[in-house]
Amino acid sequence: MQLILPVTPDAFGSLNTGHSETVARRYRVEASVCPNPFCQCDGIRLRLFPKGARDSTVAVCLYLDLRKRRISNPKGLKWVPAPSPLAKTLTAQFKDSDWETLRDRYIAAKLNYTDRTDWDKVEIPKEAMKKARSPVGYNEIIPYNVGIDFRLGSDHWVVRDHYCADPECSCADVVLIFFRMDKMTGEREERPRLFCLYDYRTGKVTREDPKGEGSPSADELLRAMRRATPKLSVRLGQRHARLRKLFRRAIGQRIIPAKTVLAGRGSTS
Ligand SMILES: [Zn+2]
Ligand SMILES: [Zn+2]
Repeated sequence: MQLILPVTPDAFGSLNTGHSETVARRYRVEASVCPNPFCQCDGIRLRLFPKGARDSTVAVCLYLDLRKRRISNPKGLKWVPAPSPLAKTLTAQFKDSDWETLRDRYIAAKLNYTDRTDWDKVEIPKEAMKKARSPVGYNEIIPYNVGIDFRLGSDHWVVRDHYCADPECSCADVVLIFFRMDKMTGEREERPRLFCLYDYRTGKVTREDPKGEGSPSADELLRAMRRATPKLSVRLGQRHARLRKLFRRAIGQRIIPAKTVLAGRGSTS
């Protein structure tokens, strides 16, 4: 079986099945993903149209849970019908690589929707705001975004950025949390190597808290980060401004994030 997904959300891909005699062999595939930039539903809807059929009757419509790698029928989605035997037969043939392709397509579509979001018109979901603690992680609110990463020597690093969530405050404080990528697994190490409080307007580190032995200093990491992202202060400023805008709107609903002591995240000594 070969699954080719459309390049853009509204285009068509194809699915060729080699196995089942009862299943038409070739389909046009339409894949769609929920456009909400805050939602992490991890679902994708596929509609399959038999290739060469005269009308555009949908042969299969199914909603897939990409986390559990199975057909799912989320409650409240009335446009998702119960999976047909044909849908079950097809998904049973999906290989790991097919699920990975679907996952890649889901992420790409979410990034695309996030990119096109008009931040003046959307509201942070109440659930996300309830959990939010200031400083708020950019990823905690806007989960699909092009992250910040860089190389230092032979190591690959990724950064999480947390911002002051007071919408009336004009500071340029960001807590940067540095994670090293594990060379063996290619995954991010579970524990961060260093926290620092950084003022992206002045470029000054005001607090620094390395974890464990042998972490490069905040200055070294920041130098490497600036090499990878020359307009770092602009980039961080844009991310902060976007969150502030969202928080300012949330204030009207009185669900601003609770404050935590900045040091609580990093320095305890
Ligand atoms: Zn969703
Ligand atoms: Zn502030």
